[in-house]
Amino acid sequence: MSWYTSDRRDRLPMAHGRWARLRAIVRERAHDRCQASVHSPLCDGHGTDCDHIVPGDDDSLDNLQWLNHNCHKLKTQREASARNRRDARLRKHPKESNPGSL
Ligand SMILES: [Zn+2]
Repeated sequence: MSWYTSDRRDRLPMAHGRWARLRAIVRERAHDRCQASVHSPLCDGHGTDCDHIVPGDDDSLDNLQWLNHNCHKLKTQREASARNRRDARLRKHPKESNPGSL
């Protein structure tokens, strides 16, 4: 990724143009195929969405992957429920160990 530096990125004012360009790069890198680590049963292997591997503001190419819409949805749901589980556990019994949770 040496040709793509965050330093250069920050000086480009066109957010949409930048994202469209990133998207095109990620798509090309994936050869249009879904790169999900866990595929949705509805996935046909064809990618449609550009996704942040680790949710947040990291738009580096290392943190982007090309996903099928269904896998993208699945991943978002899994992230949300993992977050909810974590929050619920912290709220309830911070010291409780959950032997059955894994
Ligand atoms: Zn998939």
